[in-house]
Amino acid sequence: MPESHESSDFVRPVRASRWSDAQSRDALQAIVEGVAEISAFEVVGVSVVREDGYLQIIALVGPEEARKELLDSLAPVAPLLEQLELADDWGTLKYVPHDRLVLDLDQWGWVAAGDRENVPPGRWHPEDLLVAPLYADDGTLLGTLGVELPRDGLVPGPEQRAALDVHLRQAARAAITALERERLAERVRLAAAAADVVRIAAGTHSPDEVLAECGRAVTRGFRAESLWVQRLGPDGRCQGPLLIDGGPAVRLPAGVRALVAAQAPRAWERQCVAVLAPERPIHGTLGGDQHAEVIAFLADLEVESLLFVPVGAGRECFGVMGLTRGRGGREWSEEESATALEIGRDLGRAIANARTLEREHQLVEELRAVADYKERLLATVSHEMKNPLSAILGYVEILEADPELTETARACVAAIERGGSRLSEVVDDLLLLHESASTGAPVTEPVDLAHAVSDIVHLNDAVATARGLTLCADLPGVPVLALAESRDVDHIVTNLVGNAVKYTPAGGTVTVAVARVGDRAVLTCTDTGIGISPEEQAHVFDEFFRSADPSAVAQPGTGLGLAIVRRVVERHGGRIEVESELGVGSTFRVFLPGG
Ligand code: ADP
Repeated sequence: MPESHESSDFVRPVRASRWSDAQSRDALQAIVEGVAEISAFEVVGVSVVREDGYLQIIALVGPEEARKELLDSLAPVAPLLEQLELADDWGTLKYVPHDRLVLDLDQWGWVAAGDRENVPPGRWHPEDLLVAPLYADDGTLLGTLGVELPRDGLVPGPEQRAALDVHLRQAARAAITALERERLAERVRLAAAAADVVRIAAGTHSPDEVLAECGRAVTRGFRAESLWVQRLGPDGRCQGPLLIDGGPAVRLPAGVRALVAAQAPRAWERQCVAVLAPERPIHGTLGGDQHAEVIAFLADLEVESLLFVPVGAGRECFGVMGLTRGRGGREWSEEESATALEIGRDLGRAIANARTLEREHQLVEELRAVADYKERLLATVSHEMKNPLSAILGYVEILEADPELTETARACVAAIERGGSRLSEVVDDLLLLHESASTGAPVTEPVDLAHAVSDIVHLNDAVATARGLTLCADLPGVPVLALAESRDVDHIVTNLVGNAVKYTPAGGTVTVAVARVGDRAVLTCTDTGIGISPEEQAHVFDEFFRSADPSAVAQPGTGLGLAIVRRVVERHGGRIEVESELGVGSTFRVFLPGG
C-alpha cells in the first residue's frame, strides 16, 4: 500500500473512520434499538474505530441529552483497551466497576446524573462501564457495543448476565457484520471507480477529454460532492481555470494558485495525497495571507474537506485533482486515499498518452502541410517552366534551319537544344509526378498486359538493337488482364523497359514477361545490366534518387521515373519490388489487381 497519508507541508495525515454508509448507520441503529428493548438498559451505543485511533459513536439509544452529547463524539481507543484489561469478563461484555475506572471521563462524554458518592453495593454506579469490544475475524478491533443505566438501577446478577450475554453476542455479531460489510462495500466501490477510470481513459484521445470523461466515475466511486481539476503548465504554474466537475470554471485566487503550484509537484514526488480542511491548520511554506485565502476559498464553496491528489506520469506532475465533501461529509479513509493516488497515476498515464497522440497528430498535420506545399511548388514551377521552354526549343528549331548560321553559332544552338531538351524531360517528369500524386482513384478497366508489353517491346526494339542489346518479351499466348488505366500500364512498362535498356551495357539482354498469379497480374522486367547495390535498392523508388555508381551516373536521368511508377502502381492498389545484384542485373516486378 502506498504511503498515501504521509504528512506534507500543508496538510495533516489522512485519517478517518472506516464506516461511511448511511445504510450501515441505519443497520447499527436498528441493532442498538433491539438491544435496548430486550436488555433493560436505557443507553445502548455502538462506536466504530477510526483510523486516527479514535472511537466514534455512530448509533445510540438513550435520553435526548445523552444522544446529543454522545452521537458522533470521539474518544481515544488506547485508554479503553487498557481499561478493559481491568474488567470483569462477563463473556461478550466486559464490566469495569467505577472504582477500577482509570479512564478520563471528560474524554468519554456523557455520564448520567445521579449520586456518585453513596451508591450502595449491587446498585449501578453512573461511572460503571459495561462494554463489548467488536473484533473482526482477523482480530482487528472494529468498534464497541456499550450499555449503560439498567432500568432497575442494579448491576446485573449472574442470571441476567447469562441472558444478556446471549442477546449481546447476537447483537455484536450483527454489528460486526454491518461494519465488515461497510469495509467491503467501500473496497468494491473504489475498485470499480478505479477500473472505470482506466477503461474510460484508455479510449479517450485528448487530455481534456480524459479529465472530463473520468470525472463522473471518480465522484461516484468516492461519494464525493464534486471533482476539481487544476492543470499545471510546462512552467510549473497553474494553467487555465479550475474545472469543477468538468463544468463551470472558476479562477483560483492567487494564493490558492501558488499553493497548488507549490504543493502538487511535491505531493507527486512523494507519492502522497493530502487533506485540506478549513478548520485544520495549514503549516509550512504558506504565509498567513495564503493560508487565509485558501481557507476562505474552501469555505466560500462550502467545502468541508478536500482530498488533494496529484496527477502525473514519470517525473512530471500535470496538475491536481481535488475531491470535495461538504458539511456532514465523512472523513477520507486510507482506502480512499490510496485509491485516489492510484487514480492520479492512471489519469496521469492517460494524459501522457493523449499528449503524445496529440503531438503525433500535430506532427502528421505539419508534415502533410509541408508535403502539400512541396507538391504545389513542384506543380507551379514546372508549369511555369513548360511554356518558356517550349518557346526556347521552338526558336532553336528555327535557328537550326537557318543555312547562314556560322559554325560557332551552330555549335551554340546545338548546346542550347541539348540543355533545353534535358530540362524539358525534367519538367515533364515533374508534371507527371504531380499528376500521379494528385489524381484520385484511377478509372480502371481490364487491360491486357501481354498486349501492352508486346507493343512497347516492339517500339523499343530499334533503340535496344542500336545499343547492342537483345530485347525480348516472354508472353503466355493468352491475355493477362489487369484492372488498370490503360495509359498508366503503358507508362509503367515504358519506364521499366527504358531503364533496363539504359542501364544494361551492350551485349546484354532485357526480358519482359507477364503472368497471372492468383488474383494478381504480374509484370516482370529483367535485365543483365549493371545492377543496384543492396543499400541503393532501398532508395530507387524515392523521388530524385540517382545511383552513385559511375556507370549509372553516366546515363541521363532525373531520378523521378521509378518514383512515378511506384505512385502509379500504388494508386491502382498494386505493389512494385526490385531484386538486383551489382554487375549481374536487375529484376523489377509489378503486381496489379487482376482483371
Ligand atoms: P533515372 O531517371 O535516374 O533513371 P529512375 O527513377 O528511373 O531515374 O531510377 C532511379 C535510379 O535507379 C537510377 O538513377 C538508377 O541508378 C537506378 N536504376 C533504375 N533502373 C535500373 C536498372 N534497370 N538497372 C540498374 N539501375 C537502375
